[in-house]
Amino acid sequence: MSQVYDRVALIGLGLIASSMFWAIKRAGLAVEVTGYARSQETRDTARRIGLCDRVCDSAREAVEGADLVVLCVPVGAMGQVAADLAPALKPGATVSDVGSVKRAVIDAVAPHIPSGVHFIPAHPLAGTEHSGPESGFESLFDNRWCLLVPDNGADEQAIVALQQLWQGMGAKVERMDPDHHDLVLSVTSHAPHLIAYTMVGVADDLSRVTDSEVIQYSAAGFRDFTRIAASDPTMWRDVFLANKDATLEILGRFTEELFALQRAIRRGDGTHLHDYFTRTRQIRRGIIEAGQDTDAPDFGRGQAAKD
Ligand code: NAP
Repeated sequence: MSQVYDRVALIGLGLIASSMFWAIKRAGLAVEVTGYARSQETRDTARRIGLCDRVCDSAREAVEGADLVVLCVPVGAMGQVAADLAPALKPGATVSDVGSVKRAVIDAVAPHIPSGVHFIPAHPLAGTEHSGPESGFESLFDNRWCLLVPDNGADEQAIVALQQLWQGMGAKVERMDPDHHDLVLSVTSHAPHLIAYTMVGVADDLSRVTDSEVIQYSAAGFRDFTRIAASDPTMWRDVFLANKDATLEILGRFTEELFALQRAIRRGDGTHLHDYFTRTRQIRRGIIEAGQDTDAPDFGRGQAAKD
């Protein structure tokens, strides 16, 4: 893969932006990558570790002359960040983002995009429970999906260029409607995170009773929950607030299923339990066959990929 853009600006320098930088450099997808983060500490770290060709002290400076600007901040901060940098955008540039929720980001960002600038929201389905400028790595997006959610009237050339960038960073790209995206992700990512947060919270309450046995004898199932529940609190707070309707819909369904399982256990209905677990096992096999996970005993999770 060769150069797609002359200059790319990354706004917010955490896990996703730093992984993008290393992946862009690996494949030579841009001549120069500028970066900006709101805190001096993050900018200092970025300069120390060589994250970005040029780290700027303002968002406007970072986006000046950029052909592509990617907003890599929490979902709840996207609108304000877009408003701040909008006056410095180059005509003909593309603005994109990596937010985990799409409808709320579109509603918050689109009003600030000047005419003559393209806005193509995106969401890479890849991440880890780590955050910050030092947590990124060049292979994060390898063989992971990146969903583009362009508006119907979006410029096809701009979409294709962004698609080439993500493919160059190792991702598989698909286009999706924003509301559909939010519903799908509430099932595959948002609700599971909330359930993991809850399970770890319950175990924490219990560990006070059992004198930390929960931690000492932590088994694979619970350990996996704790990894998910270690995800960034700001990011996930914003995801739930921004994808409220879809998450509540899925949690409602989840609660109904949980009650059905609860009733089966109380009644000793082994057939119901066995049938249910057989169906879910098939789903797991489907995920492995689709290349979305591995059947290694530890789920292959050295550097876990989630979103
Ligand atoms: P991160 O590692 O926590 O980095 C967040 C960056 O945003 C930091 O540079 C931070 O600046 C900046 N920031 C935080 N609050 C801000 C605010 N109010 N105004 C301006 N800047 C702010 O986060 P990340 O994991 O890269 O996530 C970034 C985006 O990617 C989020 O929208 C998230 O939904 C999405 N995403 C995350 C994952 C994942 O698994 N982590 C996967 C896919 C998509 P300072 O460092 O200066 O505080």
